Amino acid sequence: CEAEILGVRPTHCIEYKYAPTDIQFANAVNDALDSFKSGRADMAAIYYERIDVEGHHFGPASQQRKDALKAVDTILQHMTKWIQDESLQDDLNVIMFSDHGMTDIFWMDKVIELNKYINLSDLQQTQDQGPVVSLWPAPGKHAEIYNKLSAVEHMTVYEKEAIPSRFHYKKGKFVSPLTLLANKGWFIAKSRDTLPFWANSTGKKEGWQHGWHGYDNELMDMRGFFMAFGPDFKSDFRAAPIRSVDVYNVMCHVVGVAPLPNNGSWSRVECMLRAPAGAAAAVHPSSCVLGLLLLLCKLTL
Ligand SMILES: [Zn+2]
Repeated sequence: CEAEILGVRPTHCIEYKYAPTDIQFANAVNDALDSFKSGRADMAAIYYERIDVEGHHFGPASQQRKDALKAVDTILQHMTKWIQDESLQDDLNVIMFSDHGMTDIFWMDKVIELNKYINLSDLQQTQDQGPVVSLWPAPGKHAEIYNKLSAVEHMTVYEKEAIPSRFHYKKGKFVSPLTLLANKGWFIAKSRDTLPFWANSTGKKEGWQHGWHGYDNELMDMRGFFMAFGPDFKSDFRAAPIRSVDVYNVMCHVVGVAPLPNNGSWSRVECMLRAPAGAAAAVHPSSCVLGLLLLLCKLTL
């Protein structure tokens, strides 16, 4: 419904809703399983957001975040039982993954306020607050802004060409002349007044955030998770870490579609699959895939 990709939209789509309830998630899982059973779909993808939201508001180690994960766990237990009851275990592959982790932030003492170091009117434009901030200095101000911010602790300032290649970012057409990257747990804002507060129980936008993501992807806290089971996956197999861009190749493989050129590496994911590349469709002509994107922080219950 919402996004057309290469001229194609999904056959069936439930419109995106910010922070859906656990009941809505459970219904989406049921709906997906029903559609496999009745032959209406070969693939379904479900996105669950509550773990991310609770992690932002209360912190990745908070009880609220853990409770959200327990709710997911309960629904997934029902799902695996239903798969057994309906004898779908030889036809259905289930992939669960997140696209990022989360780390604690500290608005009491780990905020970098840009207005303390530079004159904000020397900037033509800024984008975002938090771990990564993009700056467009006004004409003639680039060197001054760069020099002043380079002296600020707990963050790094990059000119476009100096952005590390491993971020796969610097060649983007929207990349600003200066990019700021905070150290883990630090939060960059124009000033404390502009921090992105959330409406807590008071109803006013004044609640502190306690968790965030978007820091250097080499940090352990930024890692997501990937789990899968079904006829195309090996059992009791633990793969070395993969990258988010690898998931597309796995999904294509299990659904029997040839992947388009992409940045994933087949060599990182091949090991987890039972059949060699290209053989999935022949081995399981009627297999389905359920992709669950769960924004989990950590796997501790
Ligand atoms: Zn988030």
